[in-house]
Amino acid sequence: MMTYDAYKSFGIDAAVVDYGEKKLNELKDTFGRFDALCEHNQLKVIAAMQKNKVSAECFAGTTGYGYNDLGRETLESVYADIFRTESALVRPQITCGTHALALALMSNLRPGDEIFSPVGRPYDTLEEVIGIRPSKGSLAEYGITYGQADLLSDESFDYDAIRRGINERTRLITIQRSRGYATRKTLSVKEIGELISFVKKIKPDVLVMVDNCYGEFTEMTEPSECGADMVVGSLIKNPGGGLAPLGGYIAGRSECIEQAAYRLNAPGLGKEVGASLEVLRSFYQGLFLAPSVVNASLKGAVFAAKLYGDLGFYVSPKAKQERHDIIQSIAFHSPEGLKAFCEGIQAAAPVDAHVTPIPWDMPGYDDPVIMAAGAFISGASIELSADGPMREPYAAYFQGGLTWQHAKLGILLSLQKLVNADLVKLSDL
Ligand SMILES: *Cc1c(COP(=O)(O)O)cnc(C)c1O
Repeated sequence: MMTYDAYKSFGIDAAVVDYGEKKLNELKDTFGRFDALCEHNQLKVIAAMQKNKVSAECFAGTTGYGYNDLGRETLESVYADIFRTESALVRPQITCGTHALALALMSNLRPGDEIFSPVGRPYDTLEEVIGIRPSKGSLAEYGITYGQADLLSDESFDYDAIRRGINERTRLITIQRSRGYATRKTLSVKEIGELISFVKKIKPDVLVMVDNCYGEFTEMTEPSECGADMVVGSLIKNPGGGLAPLGGYIAGRSECIEQAAYRLNAPGLGKEVGASLEVLRSFYQGLFLAPSVVNASLKGAVFAAKLYGDLGFYVSPKAKQERHDIIQSIAFHSPEGLKAFCEGIQAAAPVDAHVTPIPWDMPGYDDPVIMAAGAFISGASIELSADGPMREPYAAYFQGGLTWQHAKLGILLSLQKLVNADLVKLSDL
C-alpha cells in the first residue's frame, strides 16, 4: 500500500504502522467528540470576527506610536468577545506567555500584597517571576509575597488549606489550568469555576488570574466565563493557531487590562499606543485557524496516549480521559526512553528534521531540558513538539501539531525510535 511505502521512507516498519491503525480504530468516538468541539469553537471565533466587522483594513498595521490602530483595537475586541470579557490586551510587545503572566501580576499588584496559588507550585518560569526562586526584578523584590496550597493526594482541592492560606493581604489568586511540567492533572473549566466560587466567597474582592496556556479551545467555554478576572496566555501556543510569530494576551475585566496596558507601555500611556507593525494578519488568521489546530493537537495527544498507554507506559491523561489542554505526558523512567521519543518527534518535523535534540540548561528552568521541535516559528509549542526535564520520571511532555497527519507521523516515528533502541519490542505491538 502507498501509505506503507510513505511511512517506510521515514524508516517506520509496517508493524508500527499497523499497530497505529489498530489503535486508531478504537479512537473513533473520541475523534468525533473533538470534531464537535472544534465546530463549536470555530463558529465562536467566526461570530466574534463578524460582530467586530473585521475587514481588510484591519490587517494594515501601524508604526511608531501606533495611534489609531484599527486592526489592533478590533483584534482586542474579538478576543474579548471570544473570552467573554470586558476587555483584552493582545500584543506583539508581549514577548511570550511568561511575560504576559508577569505583566498581569506586576501591573495588578502593589507592595505588601500577597499572591496565593491554591493549585500547588506554578509553572517553572513563574517561580522566578514571583520570586519563589530568587531572581532579579521578581515580585518578591518589590515586597509582594507568595503562598500556596498543594492539591490533596487524590488531586482534589485542599479547601481547608486554601481557607487558611487566604489572608487580609491576599490580593490575587493564581490558578494554572494546564499541568505544565508537573505531574498533577490539568483542571477543567468546571473545576476552575468551583475553585473561583470558593475563594470569592472567602474574599469577594480578590482578583483571580488563570494561566490559560495550552487550554484555549480545548473546551466549549473558557475560565473567564466562570469568574476569572483575567485569563492569560501565549500566542505561540493555542490561540495563535501556528501563524502568530510572537505575542501574548490578557483578557479580562477592564480595570485589570488597563493596569496591564499602563505597565506594558508606561504610566499615562495605555492601550492606545503600541504599533502592530506587520503582525496583525497572522494574529487574525492564526486565531481563525486555532480551533482546528487545537483539534489536530488533541487528536495527536490522545493517539500518543493510546499507543503508549496500551504498551504499558504511564501516560497522563489516559486515552479515555477528558482533556482540558493539549499536553500529553508519557513517562519513560529512563533518559534513553525520553531521548528516543524526542528524536522521533524531531525526525518527523518539516523543519530541522536533521538535527538531534540534546538536553541543555534553559533560562527559567531548574533541570536540563530536552526539546524536540522543528517549527516554522521558533519555540512555538502549538507546533508538534516534545520536551521534558531530565529528571525522574523522565516524562516527555508532548504537544501540538498543526495538522493531525503530522502529529500521527511524529508519534509513529517516536515509537519506531523506541523499537530501534530496544526499549519496545516489535512482538509487543
Ligand atoms: C508555556 C507556559 C507558560 C509560559 O509560556 P512561555 O510562552 O513559554 O513563556 C506558562 N504557563 C504554562 C502553564 C505554560 O504551559
